[in-house]
Amino acid sequence: MRKAGLITGGALVAAGEAIHAGMTTKELDTVVRKYITSHGAKPSFLGYGGFPGSACISINDVVIHGIPGPQVIKDGDIVSVDVGAYIGGFHGDSCKTFAVGEVSEEAKALMKSTEESLYLAISMVKPGVRLGDLGAAIQKYNEDNGYGVVREFVGHGVGRDLHEDPEVPNFGKAGHGVRLQAGMVIAIEPMITEGSPKVKVMGDGWTTKTADGKLSAHFEHTIAVTETGCMILTKPD
Ligand code: MG
Ligand code: MG
Repeated sequence: MRKAGLITGGALVAAGEAIHAGMTTKELDTVVRKYITSHGAKPSFLGYGGFPGSACISINDVVIHGIPGPQVIKDGDIVSVDVGAYIGGFHGDSCKTFAVGEVSEEAKALMKSTEESLYLAISMVKPGVRLGDLGAAIQKYNEDNGYGVVREFVGHGVGRDLHEDPEVPNFGKAGHGVRLQAGMVIAIEPMITEGSPKVKVMGDGWTTKTADGKLSAHFEHTIAVTETGCMILTKPD
């Protein structure tokens, strides 16, 4: 799974190097697809449930599942790029929100809180910790900063399938939920909003936006639980 994770993480590095104002989300998707296929893997998302892209590219108030297309990325946008790579029978899954050019202080703070809450949860992962412990920590961190935690979409197990049990919510009660064991692999992925946590799915059946039109950020890593802690499988080299 580290092999799949490395290619996934590398695709996000490539996306980060390529992203600029004036390019279309389709062009950014092509960068991701070429990186994954040139490393001998398959884009996990392409064709998944009929999804037409290799990456989900979600700008500003789009929380997740943005479809790559003719939309032009602008200076000041925050752009979430969610990527998966499949190789050797296993998937990696990772997402990062990029700031394009000069973004607002509000956008920077939202991105920072979201990313920090991901690493806070990762720092807690070891055998015996429960999924409610992780969810509660992510929820508290972001709500203390004044942000919303999306409820309708959550993290998940990942392995031979892109989405496996258990669900890994970004909210919950400490001391509750599935107990982690060495050998489990989960995708932790806080989806955090500047305002209300409510989201709406657009008519295309994919694009998911904040209901109030405010910004959203999304960071994700695929994490293997080890005997002593964890390993970030989608961390780039
Ligand atoms: Mg993902
Ligand atoms: Mg995921």
